[in-house]
Amino acid sequence: MADEVDVVVIGLGPGGEHAAGNLAEAGLSVVAVESRLVGGECPYYACVPTKMMVRAAGLLAEGGRVPGMAGDSTVRPDWAPVAARIRDEATDSWDDKVAADRLTGKGAELVRGEGRITGPGEVTVNDRVFRARRGIVLNTGTTPTAPPVDGLDGTPYWTNREAVQATRAPGSLIVLGGGVVGAEMAQVFSRFDSRVTVIEAADRLLLNEEPESGDLLRDVFEREGIGVRTGVNVTAVTHDDGEFTLDLGDETLSAERLLIATGRRPNLKGLGLENAGLDEDARQVPVDGHMRAADGVWAIGDITGMGQFTHVSMYQAAIAVRDILGEEGSPASYRAVPRVTFTDPEIASVGLTQAQARDQNLPVRTGIAKLPESPRGWIHKVGNDGFIKLIENTEWGTLVGATAVGPSGGEILGALAVAVHTEAPTAVLREMMYAYPTFHRAIEAALADLSG
Ligand SMILES: Cc1cc2nc3c(=O)[nH]c(=O)nc-3n(C[C@H](O)[C@H](O)[C@H](O)COP(=O)(O)OP(=O)(O)OC[C@H]3O[C@@H](n4cnc5c(N)ncnc54)[C@H](O)[C@@H]3O)c2cc1C
Repeated sequence: MADEVDVVVIGLGPGGEHAAGNLAEAGLSVVAVESRLVGGECPYYACVPTKMMVRAAGLLAEGGRVPGMAGDSTVRPDWAPVAARIRDEATDSWDDKVAADRLTGKGAELVRGEGRITGPGEVTVNDRVFRARRGIVLNTGTTPTAPPVDGLDGTPYWTNREAVQATRAPGSLIVLGGGVVGAEMAQVFSRFDSRVTVIEAADRLLLNEEPESGDLLRDVFEREGIGVRTGVNVTAVTHDDGEFTLDLGDETLSAERLLIATGRRPNLKGLGLENAGLDEDARQVPVDGHMRAADGVWAIGDITGMGQFTHVSMYQAAIAVRDILGEEGSPASYRAVPRVTFTDPEIASVGLTQAQARDQNLPVRTGIAKLPESPRGWIHKVGNDGFIKLIENTEWGTLVGATAVGPSGGEILGALAVAVHTEAPTAVLREMMYAYPTFHRAIEAALADLSG
């Protein structure tokens, strides 16, 4: 016997939890299915604990910047309060009771287990079958993956999930992968006195960002004593006597811990996509502007391939909820997806990079302003690395992309995200005032630099 409900949400990442709660509050009968923790990766293993780590590491760095600027300082890193804060404040020891109660308090029924589509509008969890009158929402997210390196399988390597549960900073750490996750973790552990080396197969860090961002980050990392190897492939890994050894072809590297940060696999296998008329082997679930993936099926979050960010998941959830409730609303726009790498300096960007704009054959010119040359950057002095880069579509006279790197780069990005999202004419951006002496005032200098 199937239980009749209005909506079944499979996977409760940030978007799924939001959708299930809002649909239930709107009066629909909602079954919310989760196999791990309500809230997904972000609160327990990703955004929240890693930003607590970043905050702690940032305090150490600022403490270390006192000499020459404000007196003397001695900074002695201690991972214990970081681990305690993640355990007690962020994750309740990786227990989702608060989130589960919040969800059921909104009226949704929480069902624990793996959800699988077993027919049109039908979801099976363990031995329970649900028939969804209005539809099914998929928010199954991603799982960390490791590359197929000889010997790696079976070694006790870390992914982000183990790294956020660390009870002490390792003496040495190799980070495989110089993307967002690898970069943030490398700097955090280095600031807690781990000897860190980052290995990246591409020829620069943060490959999806402007080349200036990866180049600057490398420079900062090397100045801080973090080893950076780019254009390097690991051919074999061994783990003996508590030590990892990586074969890089012409050299070997050893460390106490190995963090794999090379990417994530969408959780689509075994989900029964084929029973909803979708491709069971797909690497993502394509959706239209209202998050519809198939008749009676909506998909949101990382699995849609529109950006692996909590804000994308939440944004898409709100659109799916509107659509399920039959409310009017604009379709999704990805013109101004913001992204922040929470290193120091923060590397924040929105919209297209210069290379992406060129790939789309857009007529663009760029403007750049270096933060250390801006009044605020000069005043700030130590720790002032950064720049603002603007990508203007010369035909439209609007920004199609921007990068803000610096202290609080993610906050500077707010102004640029508004400009890209609203397609504000650069002529208008040039006419406005920028508070003196803020970091974001460097936007004015970057606008003045637009050329080429
Ligand atoms: C280290 C790290 C740091 C990050 N930092 C940031 C950041 O600062 N800012 C930001 O915006 N993003 C960040 N992200 C990305 C962010 O975590 C994800 O984009 C976000 O969690 C949204 O994912 P999601 O909604 O697709 O689902 P997820 O959070 O991946 O959750 C999916 C849920 O579905 C469940 N599930 C899967 N299959 C089934 C099934 N068949 N049945 C039942 N349940 C199922 C899973 O158990 C999981 O709980 C970070 C990621 C990592 C790894």
